[in-house]
Amino acid sequence: MEEQSIRVEERQDKKEKPKSEDLIFGRNFTDHMFVMDYTEGLGWHNPSIIPYQNLSISPASMIFHYGQSVFEGLKAFRTENGDVQLFRPEKNVQRLNQSNDRLVIPPIDENLALEAIKQLVAMDSDWVPSTEGTSLYIRPFIISTEPYLGVAPSHYYKFIIIMSPVGSYYKEGINPVKIAVENQYVRAVKGGTGEAKTGGNYASSLKAQELCEKEGYSQVLWLDGVEKKYIEEVGSMNVFFKINGEVVTPALNGSILPGITRDSVIQLLKHWDIPLVERRVSIKELYEAHQNGTLEEAFGSGTAAVISPIGELYWEGHHLVINEGKTGDISKKVYDTITGIQYGKMEDPFDWTVKVEKNSKVRQ
Ligand SMILES: *Cc1c(COP(=O)(O)O)cnc(C)c1O
Repeated sequence: MEEQSIRVEERQDKKEKPKSEDLIFGRNFTDHMFVMDYTEGLGWHNPSIIPYQNLSISPASMIFHYGQSVFEGLKAFRTENGDVQLFRPEKNVQRLNQSNDRLVIPPIDENLALEAIKQLVAMDSDWVPSTEGTSLYIRPFIISTEPYLGVAPSHYYKFIIIMSPVGSYYKEGINPVKIAVENQYVRAVKGGTGEAKTGGNYASSLKAQELCEKEGYSQVLWLDGVEKKYIEEVGSMNVFFKINGEVVTPALNGSILPGITRDSVIQLLKHWDIPLVERRVSIKELYEAHQNGTLEEAFGSGTAAVISPIGELYWEGHHLVINEGKTGDISKKVYDTITGIQYGKMEDPFDWTVKVEKNSKVRQ
């Protein structure tokens, strides 16, 4: 496909930026956004960076009725010498197309999408905060915009990228959370859309999340949707356990979202020669490992928190305290290494970071 060039319309009245200490996840948006349209017959066209603004679309747009949409989430980081860099952005673009395939949304040109992310970040690079632990969250997404109430794939779409400066996830230091095993509701089932990053998966997770918060837990541990025996994810993160010296993570099975942080954790553990297996893990196995003292660590992984240690698991009347409720050594080492690479404080042996330069000149 021939590379399309991105039209740029710069905003004149720049917005006021929030102070680093006032940043709340996903509340403030930068000066510009990226938009590209899809029309059947014409394909994806008119890639543009424009001032951040409201959309005007028909209330009959299919996105409002049947939820045909996909999204991504990644971050830009400010390094100590003032550069701005992305973390494995090509993986997000690839995954966007995998999600597109599942939702019957026409594929995007991955090079163009990557270029759009880089140019948008370069244009609003003043919005990448520099205080410890802060970053610029990037949200690419696609919505179906055809005004039609019939149930069918849309013939019109919009691909949009918006960005939001975010504060440090761990203001008081990395802190283990309490998790409740979810026995009633499921997040996804094999054959469903669990593997795709699509809003519907989140809508269906809200009920369980609300109930667990009322009981004093921060997230739920999702079990598989068929037998409700095998562990899938924790909240909207992938999950890892250290059992008797070996790290175990649920194998990708069609209903688990293939996290980029998950993949990074796996690569790091292999690099360090720490035993790691991807396989099925049942909640019963975890319970038994806890009883015989071999459940040594548990943590979630995802772009927002990077690593979220699990200090306690609640399951059928049992409170399983893990590693005395403290952050484990592997959780800490993985967290320090991934964030070290993201902020340019540590070497990047895997070439995970991509530098963004002002004036949209990009060097790898
Ligand atoms: C996005 C997401 C993750 C984490 O993916 P990362 O690429 O690591 O951010 C895990 N589970 C679900 C359900 C997700 O939507």
